[in-house]
Order: sequence, then C-alpha cells, then structure tokens
Amino acid sequence: MAYKIIASQCTQCGACEFECPSSAIEYKGEKYVIDPDKCTECKGAFELQQCASVCPVPKTCVPA
Ligand code: SF4
Ligand code: SF4
Repeated sequence: MAYKIIASQCTQCGACEFECPSSAIEYKGEKYVIDPDKCTECKGAFELQQCASVCPVPKTCVPA
C-alpha cells in the first residue's frame, strides 16, 4: 500500500517532500508525486502519515 497526491488539489507548497521518511515524494513533470514503490505509509517511522499530516489541503495526500 502507498499514499498518493491528488494533483488537482495540490497547491505545490512542497511541504510534504521534506517530511517523507522514505524520500518517496518528488516534484516531477510539474507536479508532486509519490513513488508507490518507495512509500511505506510511514510504517515503523511515524504513527501518522507525514505527508497527510503536513499537507495544508485536506484529503490531498490519501491512500492510493
Ligand atoms: S505516507 Fe509516509 S512514506 Fe508515504 S509518501 Fe507519505 S510521508 Fe512518504
Ligand atoms: S503538502 Fe500537500 S499541497 Fe503541499 S506539495 Fe504536498 S501534497 Fe501538495
């Protein structure tokens, strides 16, 4: 399982990129994307998914 970013809601603030413990978030093709092969859903690192926690837009970082 992995999280994904709803591109149409993302303001491209960039906050999530630096909070991800798995370096799964990248700015690619003019949008922020989560690499599903790298996303661990923060398991073992954090209680809450860090991307969803820091994202200022509700329901923009969600389970894929
Ligand atoms: S859920 Fe965690 S590991 Fe996955 S992209 Fe978000 S911050 Fe990174
Ligand atoms: S924190 Fe949210 S709004 Fe900001 S770049 Fe990440 S997904 Fe987009």
